[in-house]
Formats: sequence, C-alpha cells, structure tokens
Amino acid sequence: MVTKAYGAYAGDKPLEPIDIERRQPGPNDVQIEIAYCGVCHSDLHQVRSEWGGTIYPCVPGHEIVGHVSAVGSEVTKFKVGDTVGVGCMVDSCQRCISCDDGEEQYCEHGFTGTYNFPTQDAPGHTLGGYSQRIVVRDRFVLKVSHPAEQLAAVAPLLCAGITTYSPLRHWNVGPGKKVGIVGIGGLGHMGIKLAHAMGAHTVAFTTSESKREDAKALGAEGVIVTRNPEEMEAHAGSFDFILNTVAASHDLDAYTRLLKRNGTMTLVGVPEHPHPTPDFSSLIFKRRSIAGSLIGGIAETQEMLDFCAEKGIVADIEMIPVQKIDEAYERMQKSDVRYRFVIDSASLAA
Ligand code: NAP
Ligand code: ZN
Repeated sequence: MVTKAYGAYAGDKPLEPIDIERRQPGPNDVQIEIAYCGVCHSDLHQVRSEWGGTIYPCVPGHEIVGHVSAVGSEVTKFKVGDTVGVGCMVDSCQRCISCDDGEEQYCEHGFTGTYNFPTQDAPGHTLGGYSQRIVVRDRFVLKVSHPAEQLAAVAPLLCAGITTYSPLRHWNVGPGKKVGIVGIGGLGHMGIKLAHAMGAHTVAFTTSESKREDAKALGAEGVIVTRNPEEMEAHAGSFDFILNTVAASHDLDAYTRLLKRNGTMTLVGVPEHPHPTPDFSSLIFKRRSIAGSLIGGIAETQEMLDFCAEKGIVADIEMIPVQKIDEAYERMQKSDVRYRFVIDSASLAA
C-alpha cells in the first residue's frame, strides 16, 4: 500500500517527502495508522550517517503511536481501533536464548530495527515512523492504556522511556539509592521522571544552566551543572548508580569519580566519536563499573508503558509538523529540546 513518508536520500541532504510501500498484512501482522512519532537523537545520528552504514532512502522514526486499521487472520491480541505503540524493533529470531528470555534487543541473530535494517519488504530495508502507516508483526506491537489526550506525549516512551527504564530496573534503582541522570534531553528527562517514580534520590547532571529549574520540576532532588567543578566535587564517591544519556563524546572520569564503592555508571548514549579512554585506576580502587544498555525487551516495554500509565507519566513534548524536521534536528544538536520533539503525523497529508 502506498504510504506518504518523510526521509532522506543522502546524509548531507534535507529530509523530503517520499512515497513508500507498506506490505499487505500477513496472518500475524498488525497494520497501524500512525498518529504521532517521537524524534530520537538516534534518528539524527542515522539519517546523517554519523554512525556509518546508513541505507538510503532512510525514513527514521521509532517512537510510534497510532491506531490499528487491520489485523491478520491469526492475530488475537489486537483488533481494529486499538491504540498501540511500536518502538525500536519490529522483529527478532524468536528462538535464541535472548529472545527466550524476553530480551529481543540482544537477539543472538540480530533483531530487526524499525528502520535501516534488512527486510523482505521493498526496498529491502526497514522504513520507520516518519510515515502515515506501518505494518508490524503482532509480537512487536505494544498496548497503550494512557488517556487518549496524552497520546502524543506517550510516543517518546517507546524509545526514550524504555531505554532509561530498563537499566534503572536492571541495576535495582529504588528507595534508598542515590541515582544520577546525565544529560537532560529526550532520554535524560525520562530517566529523571522514572528514577524519581521508582523512589530513588535522583540527581540530574546538565551542561545547561537554563535547565536547572526544569530538572527539579521533572523530579530531581538535586541538579549539578557539570561546568562547575565545585558542584561536581561536592558529590564525590556518593552515587550508587549513574545513567549517562549524553549524545556526544566526553570525559567519563568526571562521573566515575562520583560513584561509591561498587557503583555503576551505565552508558546509553551512542556518540558519533568515541569517548576518551577512561581512567581504569578509578574503577579498580573502588570496584566501580562502566556498563552499557540497549533499549529493552518487548515484555519490559509493555511493563514500562503500564507503569507510566498507572503513575501518570508521559514525556514533555514539543509538537511539530514533519516539514520542520530539519529545524528540529538543528535544535537537538544544540541541546535545545524541551524535551522531545514529536511529529504530528497528520502533517504528512499536507
Ligand atoms: P538528546 O535529546 O539530544 O539529549 C542529549 C543530551 O545530552 C542533551 O540534551 C544535553 O543535555 C546532553 N549533551 C549533548 N551534547 C553534550 C556534550 N557535548 N557534552 C555534555 N552533554 C551533552 O538525545 P537523546 O534522544 O536523549 O539520545 C541520547 C543518546 O542516546 C544519543 O546518542 C542516542 O543515539 C542514544 N540512544 C541510545 C539508545 C540505547 O538503546 N542505548 C536508545 C536511544 C537513544 P544537557 O543540556 O542537559 O547537558
Ligand atoms: Zn531512539
């Protein structure tokens, strides 16, 4: 089915309207009319080929919410009219140890990402949510139970939400723990809300003095402006866990020094250029760890959506028509997002 989309033909070209083809739903497929799609920094990295390996045309977008418009004959969990979401994955092997454990993001045979991954469908690679509709295997579709008027602000939960929720849960963040969230962007602002909702003492780290008050409103008990060394020093050796969401290469030692003995800093940012090599003695002498984490599994994504619905958590968003996407990327590059751009998919019809 011909579907209007927005994408780029090269890393140095602006995004433009593209007509793409979506497959007819097979027996296990769900066809979704997209209402809103969040704009992740990964979209920018990928479409601008900052990571290399981008396949063009590239249609980004993996924070998708919308309504079911058709289901295959074997689909039992969804029906026409349901409000649903799709995140960063649309398929995985379903037979390896990671898939068996519900950790499809670590599929031993490689999961299929929502965009830029090989697929049988035309044109041979997946095309994401900057489009009017998408057809997805039922196991990779999530149920959304937030009130209808919050739908646009739910979209960012599908990547920014799960990418912060999963490590916070894995490293047992909760009451009695002091937790740092580094970088107040799309991921970071969700990290603050979630860590706070899990009952941790939450401290935000930002390079932007102007975000200090916002961080408190998001749920941070403390805010550290990282450009001020004395503010950093006051917290030395005090954190149980730090979640680092920064999208650019930077000095990690400034943060590992703030961890307690046995503390962990988990990186989720995937910058264009590598971080400088960390000071391993700072890790060795306090048995500290630097770890990484990738999105989250499908069951955990559903758990996160339900947790957020119950606690009334959504993203803070700025809605844009798709035609403003390049402007949004420019602002994102300047850390000027409060705190997630969301595309109103109705603008694709214009
Ligand atoms: P974003 O909205 O642009 O936020 C990143 C934040 O990092 C900025 O708002 C800024 O916060 C801070 N920052 C940016 N440049 C910095 C610099 N040079 N030094 C220090 N801080 C800087 O991006 P996002 O969508 O949250 O994504 C963040 C990163 O996570 C990206 O690399 C993205 O690709 C990656 N990601 C990873 C996963 C995963 O599964 N691991 C999933 C999604 C995204 P302040 O103004 O507060 O300093
Ligand atoms: Zn993302």
